[in-house]
Amino acid sequence: MEIKTASDTLTQLTKMGDVTLFEPAGDRPDKETSRRYQSYSIEDCITNLSTPKGPKPVLKSMMTTACERNCNYCPFRAGHSKTKRVTFTPDNMATAFDTLQAKGKVDGLFLSSGIIKGSVTTQDKIIDTADIIRNKQSYKGYIHLKIMPGIEYDQLHRAMQLADRISVNLEGPTTERLSKLAPKKVFVDELVTMLKWAHQIRTDNPHEKLASSVTQFVVGAVGDTDLELMSMSDSLYHQASLSRVYYSAFGPVRGTPFENLPATEQIRQNRLYQSSFLLRDYGWDLEELPFQQSGNLRTDVDPKQAWADIHLKHAPIDLMTAEREQLLRVPGIGTKGVDTIIRARRSGTLSDLSHLKQIGIRNTTKLADYVLLGGKRPLRQLALF
Ligand code: SF4
Repeated sequence: MEIKTASDTLTQLTKMGDVTLFEPAGDRPDKETSRRYQSYSIEDCITNLSTPKGPKPVLKSMMTTACERNCNYCPFRAGHSKTKRVTFTPDNMATAFDTLQAKGKVDGLFLSSGIIKGSVTTQDKIIDTADIIRNKQSYKGYIHLKIMPGIEYDQLHRAMQLADRISVNLEGPTTERLSKLAPKKVFVDELVTMLKWAHQIRTDNPHEKLASSVTQFVVGAVGDTDLELMSMSDSLYHQASLSRVYYSAFGPVRGTPFENLPATEQIRQNRLYQSSFLLRDYGWDLEELPFQQSGNLRTDVDPKQAWADIHLKHAPIDLMTAEREQLLRVPGIGTKGVDTIIRARRSGTLSDLSHLKQIGIRNTTKLADYVLLGGKRPLRQLALF
């Protein structure tokens, strides 16, 4: 029988390195780092999530870096000889986490896995690990579990009881796009259904503390359009109560079938996030997003400004009288800025861009073309140099 100590397990972890570089673990997109995926220090397994309370160091790891599937972009795909394969038992992974947590190096776990002996068996190992951490080690902090494609309903429910967040990565926005990215994954039955079940489980068990759901798309490798990505995001926000959609600009990995494809520009990823927030937080309808004929968004300006160029340049919004929903349409004004303007106009008149600056609206140059102040277009201050 093989007996591993905590330090053996930590050595194993360092071999795994930054394997989950391509996976988002928290509330905001992880900080972009170079596209390594295996390196040799424990620090590479730790990611700092941005949270409202400040950065949180989270252990990002996999139960195994071996996989029987063959997603075309993935360094862990079956047959990719350059990848070092490392496998953990639930006990070993839980011990490694406990050791790092006791040393104060991490406060949170993101756990994913390659698929070996099918999704159900693999998911059981992820669940068993989380079970040990929650119930034997009594850890109360952040746990994010990856859901394997096509697992059983009861497994999903158990994972949602143990975790704060679960992710079911759709990778592509349609059946056709997914089949090019991940030939062995089944879009509806194995992936979309998981997200719908998660919503169902939350609805059926309103008194249980259950994980929220997120998904991720690989953007730009197989001709996917922004319209396709946003359509699927919009459906998931409405029909599967998704809390977040991540967009990951495709980057080629050497030795995979996609190694010679061009990387997707980072700016496209940024525009997708901005559009996604308009759908999720600003009450925009999908049809309002300013897609071009190609089905993509402009990358030279953000989607709010692209919309305002079409709709507000000739019909500016009066900041003194506009409803909250209208104010939210103005480029350069976010939700906090809208609240500030509404408060300020109750007690005085906003008739000049300098008044906006005084109340803390910083981006007055950006909004000047789209608003009226005191019934008139605001005068821009001329640049001196
Ligand atoms: S299922 Fe696909 S994406 Fe996940 S580890 Fe295996 S090959 Fe990579």
